[in-house]
Amino acid sequence: MGLPVLILGYSGSGKSASMRNFKAEEMALVNVNGKPLPFRTQFKSVLNSDNYAEISQFLKTQTAKVIVIDDTQYLMANEFMRRAKETGFQKFTDIGKNFWELIKLTETLPADTIIYFMNHLETGEDGRQKSKTIGKLLDEKITVEGMFTTVLKTVVNDGKYLFATQTDGSDTCKSPIGLFETMYIPNDLKAVDEALRIYYGMKQQETCADCGKAILPACGRTAEQIAGGTLKNYGRKLCWSCMARLIKEAKTNAAQTVSDGTGAEGQ
Ligand SMILES: [Zn+2]
Repeated sequence: MGLPVLILGYSGSGKSASMRNFKAEEMALVNVNGKPLPFRTQFKSVLNSDNYAEISQFLKTQTAKVIVIDDTQYLMANEFMRRAKETGFQKFTDIGKNFWELIKLTETLPADTIIYFMNHLETGEDGRQKSKTIGKLLDEKITVEGMFTTVLKTVVNDGKYLFATQTDGSDTCKSPIGLFETMYIPNDLKAVDEALRIYYGMKQQETCADCGKAILPACGRTAEQIAGGTLKNYGRKLCWSCMARLIKEAKTNAAQTVSDGTGAEGQ
């Protein structure tokens, strides 16, 4: 059973940009409205389509364990526009059902597959920010957030692009307890993906050679990057705080060497 994750955000708030740290073969992309990405990576497996049958087929045949559908709101909006002339409520039922079935399809995928549904935000009737649909008639049929255990929201604060991991009371953000340490994290979907994989036991966790604790993502770096970087620089895999301690110690030693007047031998 794969895992569906919902990423909400206004246009230009860093949803698409959050994919930037995935390597070209690491992630498959369904580009619903075929819009250009705001970074250089060209993903190897891309489908430009708003057709549910094509998208379902694509999802079932990917080797990448990470799939992003960007932007799912257009799946609903485009179908709604195509059927604009139809009268009656049937189209709303169909639009809701098609979208629901796509999310449910995640359950039939391998257990280590994570599908990220990127969707626009809107302010609902109760004043809360929620996943944008095509209006009240659809909202009566389906509560999109109810189908996800993790709902993140893009936030731009002081020029920084972030994800909110829990609700501030005025939105529908949520995530399992202990998945993220802080309310806000950098808008790095690769780091989110890694955290989810560790949390749900989809991935072997690396431990720190010095303190024995798990190496977790920190300061915008993935656990993989931290483990790899410390292995290269210190000859062993270290957690972020042990690495920070070593850097601090090295600085103190260097400062002492200078004040001792012993010159530059202290390397
Ligand atoms: Zn450590």
